Amino acid sequence: MDQALNPHAQNLKGQIDNLVRLQNLDLEILQQRSQVKKMEADVESAEHAVVEQRRRLEAQQQQTETLLKDRREAERTVKERQEQISKLQGQLYDVKTNDAYNALQAEIKQKKQEVVLLEERILEMMMSEDEFKKSTVLIQQAVKAAEGAVLADQAKIRQDVSVLETKVAELQAQWQAAAQSVQAEYLDRYLRLRDAKGGLAMAKIENDICQGCRLSIRPQASIELQKYRALLYCDNCARILYVE
Ligand SMILES: [Zn+2]
Repeated sequence: MDQALNPHAQNLKGQIDNLVRLQNLDLEILQQRSQVKKMEADVESAEHAVVEQRRRLEAQQQQTETLLKDRREAERTVKERQEQISKLQGQLYDVKTNDAYNALQAEIKQKKQEVVLLEERILEMMMSEDEFKKSTVLIQQAVKAAEGAVLADQAKIRQDVSVLETKVAELQAQWQAAAQSVQAEYLDRYLRLRDAKGGLAMAKIENDICQGCRLSIRPQASIELQKYRALLYCDNCARILYVE
């Protein structure tokens, strides 16, 4: 097939091949960079997890404190009621009438009931406190695990990123070398398209479909393309078309 091409067509074909080489290198560079970004995002989400676990721990500690405060308060009230009860019991000996006696007894009874209820509540709160202590330990472990994951991620990522950066530098050197064999006007068009089209300037034709935009091209374009008279562009996405 190449033998049938005139020198101009032969040259253009060579230029397109070079542009495709540049495109492949650019895509690989993009891919490496997006990998770095993904790894950085992973570290970020691990850091978010630490913040989240610490927040849980803080909330838990606050709830525990509130519970403890409420229990102390209830215990104080119990003590107060018991003092009032014994004071009232002392007064029983001094009352002169049955009515007064019964009223005192009723008051004592009511305060005793109050004490019973408070003591039940205190017991419940103590049980909750135990549960809270247990889950606090679990959350503390989760915080530690999350912090450990961040440290491990960061160390691994520093290593991986430096490997990828070396790789990108190599690819860029290959790109520079390949760009030497591309005529200035083609290189200029390539770069402008690449930067305008999300990194993809070259679009392969497969079964009359532009692989850049996935739309059909003129059936004639594929035939024209193989004659290598001039660069052809996709009518839809404006990318430089090529066939393998
Ligand atoms: Zn297209």
